[in-house]
Amino acid sequence: MLRGGIDLGGTKIQAAVVDAKGKVIGEARHPTPTTGGPADVANAMAAAMHEAAEAAGASPEDLAGVGVGSPGNADEKTGAVSDARNLPGWEGSFPLAEALQGDLGTTVRIGNDVQVATEAEFQLGAGREFSTLLGVFWGTGVGGGLIIDGKPWLGRGAAGEIGHMVVKRGGAKCPCGRKGCMEAYAGRSAMEAEARRQHEEGQKTDLFKLMHKHEKPRLTSGIWERALEHGDHLAEQLIDRAIEALGTGIASAVNLLDPEAVIIGGGLGVRFGDRYMDALTKEMAKHLFVDERPPAVRVASLGDLGGAIGASLLVSA
Ligand SMILES: [Zn+2]
Repeated sequence: MLRGGIDLGGTKIQAAVVDAKGKVIGEARHPTPTTGGPADVANAMAAAMHEAAEAAGASPEDLAGVGVGSPGNADEKTGAVSDARNLPGWEGSFPLAEALQGDLGTTVRIGNDVQVATEAEFQLGAGREFSTLLGVFWGTGVGGGLIIDGKPWLGRGAAGEIGHMVVKRGGAKCPCGRKGCMEAYAGRSAMEAEARRQHEEGQKTDLFKLMHKHEKPRLTSGIWERALEHGDHLAEQLIDRAIEALGTGIASAVNLLDPEAVIIGGGLGVRFGDRYMDALTKEMAKHLFVDERPPAVRVASLGDLGGAIGASLLVSA
C-alpha cells in the first residue's frame, strides 16, 4: 500500500508518495509560506500532498497514511507541533496532524524532521548495513538523529541536538542564544551572519555578489559552492571553520556513543560531504579517544528526498 511523507522545512515543503519498498512514485515541492501562521503552512502542506498523490496516480485518501517530519517540538502522540521558530507565527502549539487529517482524509502522523531523515538513511539509505548510527544534518542549523541497536533514540523527546554540543566554551554566539555551540560555527545561518559581519568590516568576498546575481534571499549551499569554485577566500575560511567545528562535535558524540557509523546529510552535508570527507575525518581523528577504529563516515544517499521518505515511514503500511 502507498504511503505519503511530507518534509516540512524552513524554506520548502517536500511531499512524496512512497511504495511498499520505499521507492518514490510521486513528489511535489512548494515553498514554505513566509507570512501568516501555522494554518497557512498546513494548507500549503496539504496542497503539496495532493499534488504528489496526483503525480503518483492516486489521491490522498487512498494512502495508508501520511507522515510528517516537522521542525520544532513535534509530539508523536498528540500530533501537535510547538515552538517551530523558523516557521511563520509558530511560537505556540498547533494541532498539525488534526488539521492535515481533515484536509487529506487519511491518518496523519507527526515526527521530528531530523529523526525521520535518520530513520530513512538507516532503513533505506547509507546506513542500511549498521545497527547503531548517528545522523548529522548539516544545513541551516545542525541537527542530529540517533539509532541505537536498531531503534530510534529520542530521549525524552529532545535527543540528538548535536548542533548545540559545545565545541568552544564562551565561543561564538549561536542562533539558539547560547555560546560556543557547534551550530554557531557550522550552521548555514550562523555562517552567513559571520560572512556578513566580516564583509561589513571590509573583508573581500564574492559571496553576497553571487547571492544577488542568482537572486537568492540567502547564502544557499549552491552559493557557497560557487564561491569556493571562484577561490573565494572568506568562503574557504568559513567552510574550513565549519568543518573544524563539525569534526570536534561529531568526535565528542562518537566518544560518548561509539556508533558504527556517522551519516552526514542536510543541504550543506549532501553538497560538500564528499569533497570535505578527508578534512572532516582528519578533524574528528584529533578528538577521538579510541582512535584506531573510527566509525564509518558516509554521506546520506537519499539526498533531498530523505526527509519525505523518512516521514512516510512513520505510517505503518
Ligand atoms: Zn546553540
